[in-house]
Amino acid sequence: MLIIMKTGATPAEIENVSRMIRDRGMVPHPIPGSTRTAIGITGNPPDLDPTEFELLPGVIQAIRVSKPYKLVSRETKPDDTIVRIGSKGVEIGGKKLVVMAGPCSVENRDQIHAAAEAVSRAGAKVLRGGAYKPRTSPYSFQGLEEEGLRLLAEAGEKHGLATVTEVINEASADLAEDYADMLQIGARNMQNFALLKRLGRSRKPILLKRGMSATLEELLMCAEYLLAGGNYGVVLCERGVRTFADHTRNTFDVSIIPAVKKVSHLPILGDPSHGTGIRDMVPAMARAAIAAGADGLMVEVHPDPKRALSDGAQSLYPEQFRELMGPLGIIAGALGRTL
Ligand code: PEP
Ligand code: MN
Repeated sequence: MLIIMKTGATPAEIENVSRMIRDRGMVPHPIPGSTRTAIGITGNPPDLDPTEFELLPGVIQAIRVSKPYKLVSRETKPDDTIVRIGSKGVEIGGKKLVVMAGPCSVENRDQIHAAAEAVSRAGAKVLRGGAYKPRTSPYSFQGLEEEGLRLLAEAGEKHGLATVTEVINEASADLAEDYADMLQIGARNMQNFALLKRLGRSRKPILLKRGMSATLEELLMCAEYLLAGGNYGVVLCERGVRTFADHTRNTFDVSIIPAVKKVSHLPILGDPSHGTGIRDMVPAMARAAIAAGADGLMVEVHPDPKRALSDGAQSLYPEQFRELMGPLGIIAGALGRTL
């Protein structure tokens, strides 16, 4: 259920509606917009009667939300959400596109500093790097854990970049919250509901990657867990899905970008690195994502991809990353956005 307040409804009227929702054992989520405030209700019984809310002062209407997701829905919040990352003024979801870049894994100090310097010089605003790696094989590099978090934070600080890193369970989330500006939920953990509940209570913004066989609705329901838990700083990420196609690692589903924009107010990034798995295809799919309306990109860049401990085949050389950024600015400009 969604309660739409009148334009100009007073804080006391909004609190009065919220109190009535709480008194009945449900949870109110007031969502201020540019023209009016909406109050989402979670934990409501299916037969809750909208008319009783419509009699309260300041309320225009109470509507049953037609989709299973509520708080992430554009019906609830017509304005695009802007998510703030760290303290360096990075915002995702506005006119300015944001590029996150860096190696798949943090491997050592020299590697992460070289990557940070290269991506920062080329115009990236967020440094990525995994310290906890969910790998297909137990014999593959699993990440430097806390040491990796520390090196990522140090490199970000030195090069003026915000940081994002993947967490895989509650323990890694507890640690990463102290080191990183944004926490990533990987494709393999998109539906790890215990992790979603933990990060719903986090004060850090979340980058939620689409599971490799997740539908749009499944992705949005996972985002709904985060918002329902109280964390409204959520950015989605398309990273390719499993299909019969075998010319790429995954099939980069560009069409989910306008589909998300239609039904949700949350920002969405494209990750053409995991989306293709092949370095030489990354620039074309990066351009496609921006042209389709993505709010930015996540791109893997490694100072020496041939020796990378993970995802070397899809990691760009620093020079390739620099070349990629130019055309992106032109495409952004054609769409009334900036890079
Ligand atoms: C990653 O970002 O390095 C990663 C493991 O991504 P995904 O979860 O999309 O596979
Ligand atoms: Mn990777």
